[in-house]
Amino acid sequence: MQPLKVFSVIPKLPEGLEGLWELAYNLWFSWNSDMETIFSQMDQRLWQESYRNPVWFLNHVPQRTLEELSRDAFFKERLSDAVAQLRQYVGRPSPHKFEGVAPGTPAVAYFSLEFGLALCLPIYSGGLGILAGDHLKSASDLNVPLVGIGIAYQQGYFRQYMTPDGWQQERYPIYDFEQMPMRPALTPDGQPAVVRLDVGDRPLAARIWQVAVGRVTLYLLDTNLPENPPDFRQITERLYGGNIEMRLWQEILLGIGGIKALKVLGIDPKVIHMNEGHSAFAGLERVRLFMKEHGLPFEAATEVAASGSIFTTHTPVPAGNDRFAPDLMHRYFESYARDMGLAFKVFMALGREAPHDDAEPFCMTVLALRLSRSNNGVSTLHGRVSRNMWKQVWHQFPVEDVPIGALTNGVHAPTWVAQDIGMLYDRYLGSNWREDPDCARAWSQVDTISDAEFWRTHERLRARLVDFVRERLRRQLAAQGARRQDIQAAEEVLNPEALTIGFARRFATYKRANLLLQDRVRLERILGDRERPVQFIIAGKAHPQDQDGKQLIKDLIAFSRSQGANMSVVFLEDYDMEVASYLVTGCDVWLNNPRRPLEACGTSGMKAMLNGVVQFSTLDGWWDEAYRPDNSLGWAIGKGEEYDDPDYQDFVEMQTLYNILENDIIPEFYDRGRGGLPRSWIRRMKAALKELAPRYNSHRMVLDYLGTAYSAAHGYYMRLARDGFVPARELSEWRMDMMTKWSAVQIRNVRSRVEDTLHVGDSLRVEAELYLDNIAAEHVLVQLYAGPLGQDGSFAQRQLTIMTPEGERRDGWQTFSGNTRPAEAGRFGFTVRAAPVHPLLADPHSLGLIRWAAPV
Ligand SMILES: *Cc1c(COP(=O)(O)O)cnc(C)c1O
Repeated sequence: MQPLKVFSVIPKLPEGLEGLWELAYNLWFSWNSDMETIFSQMDQRLWQESYRNPVWFLNHVPQRTLEELSRDAFFKERLSDAVAQLRQYVGRPSPHKFEGVAPGTPAVAYFSLEFGLALCLPIYSGGLGILAGDHLKSASDLNVPLVGIGIAYQQGYFRQYMTPDGWQQERYPIYDFEQMPMRPALTPDGQPAVVRLDVGDRPLAARIWQVAVGRVTLYLLDTNLPENPPDFRQITERLYGGNIEMRLWQEILLGIGGIKALKVLGIDPKVIHMNEGHSAFAGLERVRLFMKEHGLPFEAATEVAASGSIFTTHTPVPAGNDRFAPDLMHRYFESYARDMGLAFKVFMALGREAPHDDAEPFCMTVLALRLSRSNNGVSTLHGRVSRNMWKQVWHQFPVEDVPIGALTNGVHAPTWVAQDIGMLYDRYLGSNWREDPDCARAWSQVDTISDAEFWRTHERLRARLVDFVRERLRRQLAAQGARRQDIQAAEEVLNPEALTIGFARRFATYKRANLLLQDRVRLERILGDRERPVQFIIAGKAHPQDQDGKQLIKDLIAFSRSQGANMSVVFLEDYDMEVASYLVTGCDVWLNNPRRPLEACGTSGMKAMLNGVVQFSTLDGWWDEAYRPDNSLGWAIGKGEEYDDPDYQDFVEMQTLYNILENDIIPEFYDRGRGGLPRSWIRRMKAALKELAPRYNSHRMVLDYLGTAYSAAHGYYMRLARDGFVPARELSEWRMDMMTKWSAVQIRNVRSRVEDTLHVGDSLRVEAELYLDNIAAEHVLVQLYAGPLGQDGSFAQRQLTIMTPEGERRDGWQTFSGNTRPAEAGRFGFTVRAAPVHPLLADPHSLGLIRWAAPV
């Protein structure tokens, strides 16, 4: 029997406590420990049990507790202070101006398939999601007018638990959105917001939830509606669940549904940021909308959409980039393409590296690259790797020209710095580090922190981690039905004073969680040292279909229970933001040994660094750029070599890992001076903070996006949209004109004064004649391409100098000249090249046109 009507019964908050709801419905509490303690001190146990979910918590606090608190003047005063603070924070106007954007209106929409914001909102699986969450939090703190678009997964990502013999199992709790800090979003006229779209030839409806993330709103789409057929209701069931077709549906929902959702909500950000290829259909839907709403041809609509788009790629592993088979795409996009007036083959070319290859699947990363004029990888190394990986998309250009930049990730300091350390920073650095964590001046005060105080605080966090691990382990074993003595033994594992090494990440093969186990004898010797005890805490999930990953976990668990592990190795189940926050604050060393260059950036190490945890990592991702060869900021495994033979690489790097551990890390940690302080270790903790904290935090990252991408993209968009998109039409006509005219462009008579010897620092003047027919000189960028040559006679480096037109144009020929200066002795060469440019075009590479001087 089903009820006719259902109500939610919620507790009646006594007078004076209503403000609790206001705090509960803004995730600001999750990065402000003062706010969080208001909840936790109401009822510690229940707060833990709630998974730190204030809405569920308030719905479950006993009425009696509430009555008592309503008579507690002190509590009520704290509450009203907190509410006032929140209102003040949220109400402050944004200092960032975007042309034509009214105050309080979003200028940027940030799309991501996952967001890791708080423990109680489990719509993330790992680094990508946490990054998106940190991005929103920093955007909030910096008051950048931005909204997020994502998906409300009914079952989130799986929760991990183990069989007694250590085989990973997956559990999918069903979340009740009514009991979470989210509310139905409303349309401008106050109706519940629902977005409608077609998926193939069937209609899909999604309701829209909103989550307040400080000043930023995150909108989440939810297809679990009675009006949808059962398979469509499952679209928002699980993150990274289901087959490839389900993934395609999810990405259609996120991209196309996301753009439509903005319409339904009445918000119109001109810039979109696609976080990973998952959301690339957003770019497509914008093109379609510009065509429909402004009558633009496809090319002009693409200029506008791409000018206002930012794309961040995250995956140097080819298999990690979504690709959909042509027949699958045909099923879902044939009519969509027709609606845009595109032949299906032309449509498919948008997602193909080789546009004419009919067999090539449709790649979301390629689509995103083609539909945005601002692309970046997430560390310097990853930018380089990405340029190589996607050079086919710009096959006309040398790899250095591939327009994929690098903007290194960061983490949100107020979220990831432990409360105790945070209080220490408040005292010595001033509260600046919270509001302005990229402020090097604040961090330069790190040296003034008393060594003893710093170390004691760190030791307290380690002890707290050990307590947490013991308690979790006890619960894990109890849930597995372990024997009583084994459960009791869990209280004895680890040592709060031992050198503690943390390793927590997804169990993807390239992260090599098994590297540590490869020389058991050596590892057991390290773990068996009574004088200088060492312990490892390991956590991480394997993807449900990844049997190898699961086997790795099983091996680690088996080892942790062996005699040789000496109760000093623990595998913690269910790695999530809570486990992460204990680990990155309580360990001494953060171990990371991915196979270079497959870790795009890595962010857990940055969280650890912010808490004074020392890095020990292969030179991959961010550590490749942050590491100092003198080891003063932390240790590196290897020198950044890349190997052809992975087994050999593992062997070499495993040896290095043990060597550094035995020869450097353990001795330094146990080198205690007066007062039991490891002075050189503390120096290293501080040096890393001082150098790295101002750079590897998400405030710096968001400001970089703002400065290098968002503002520029908004500017290009506005210029193209002027006067009913007239400039966009002109630009696309210019582009087509160039496409036909460019083949006539020629370069001849490249000449320089010097014959063959030149001195370092001499200026070298180069002239060339270009046949431009009737192309205006201002639409051609002529460059002198010069630099030292390598062994094989090709350019080892390059300097680009702009050459300027001289004299009159005769019969279509125009002379250009420029100067270059060899900086070092050795073989030096130059050539000349020309490419079309236009002041309205954000990235001229998108034309794919270039002319090089022909070799003589
Ligand atoms: C930070 C974090 C990650 C990402 O860490 P990487 O170093 O990028 O692997 C994954 N999962 C959780 C729960 C995290 O907090």
